[in-house]
Amino acid sequence: MTQMNTSDNPLLKLSPKDLPSLLKILADRYVLYAPYTVGNGVRFLPFRDAESVNLTQLPPTHSAKSVLLPNPEILFTYTRERDGKFTLSPKRAETRDLLIFGMRSCDVRALSALDAVFLHRNMADTTYQHRRKGLLIIGIGCPSPSDTCFCERMGGGPFDETGMDVQLIPLPGAYILKGVSPQGQVLLSSVTGLLQEVEDSISQEVTNLINKTPPHTPTTPVNFKTLKQSIAARQDDPYWEQIANVCLGCGICTFLCPVCTCFTLMDSGKLLEGRRLRIWDTCMFPGFTQEASGHNPRGKEVQRVKQRFFHKFYYSLENGEPPGCVGCGRCVAHCPAGIDIREIISHFHEEVP
Ligand code: SF4
Ligand code: SF4
Repeated sequence: MTQMNTSDNPLLKLSPKDLPSLLKILADRYVLYAPYTVGNGVRFLPFRDAESVNLTQLPPTHSAKSVLLPNPEILFTYTRERDGKFTLSPKRAETRDLLIFGMRSCDVRALSALDAVFLHRNMADTTYQHRRKGLLIIGIGCPSPSDTCFCERMGGGPFDETGMDVQLIPLPGAYILKGVSPQGQVLLSSVTGLLQEVEDSISQEVTNLINKTPPHTPTTPVNFKTLKQSIAARQDDPYWEQIANVCLGCGICTFLCPVCTCFTLMDSGKLLEGRRLRIWDTCMFPGFTQEASGHNPRGKEVQRVKQRFFHKFYYSLENGEPPGCVGCGRCVAHCPAGIDIREIISHFHEEVP
């Protein structure tokens, strides 16, 4: 998508009763994903019906990372002939473009970190590239951020439209849609039968909503350069041990994180046929860096805890890539040990040596 100045883009109104019609039209044109309740959580799944799309949980338990990086993902299948030669068959790619409906602004911003890893390094990851190339995003603003959200501190905001094609703003009794990218404007112009122009009073209501949405505390954006310098200067801070002493190494923080990208490869199959899988992994597991010799360069919990933060706030910046946190708060909400990344950021950000 191409980013543009959107302040003059018209706002359009969709009646909630017409949301199912809109989603059905989109599902006919695109491979559509939307947030659905699964057990106690909410995750992005292929569109199945409009009525059970969950736009209320904020943020959804799982980000849309799993749409672009499925877990597991079959990279190719293989067969071995009697003469010992292997035939590799790449997985057949979907021919229609993807559309993700209902992404929060933090998760959309996280895509730039995924792009940095899977598109912009020495070579592009072809399966990610294929999905990402035609991706359209209808994002949704957050009138009532959760108390674990801190996107503003990470440079975003509940109504940040960066990276979206269309932004949906929920008002009582109406959804307001704004085309953010040229592709988003084309999309909206193709469903005008469902949309109405908004009156000035509604435009004012949208402005009021955006201005009055409660800010997170604290709201001052982190200076990532300062944070980077601070953690680098304090590698031996006893604080790292304090975190490591309570961390269970379960990896929930990284699996739920929309930015974390660790993966591993494995083969599954029989002697003459099988498939190569990419599955999510995490630097919080000791086996992630275990070498065949038995040596493990990050064999201690404290080394793994440090790695998580150094990757997010030191190595990524050193590589010219976006910081590894967008403030979605999932790791805060779901860490069974109560480890709060906001406190860790504050510890290093506000105590610069
Ligand atoms: S979720 Fe919490 S306990 Fe589990 S690995 Fe992450 S920081 Fe450690
Ligand atoms: S580190 Fe935690 S708060 Fe930051 S983006 Fe990842 S899950 Fe969200």
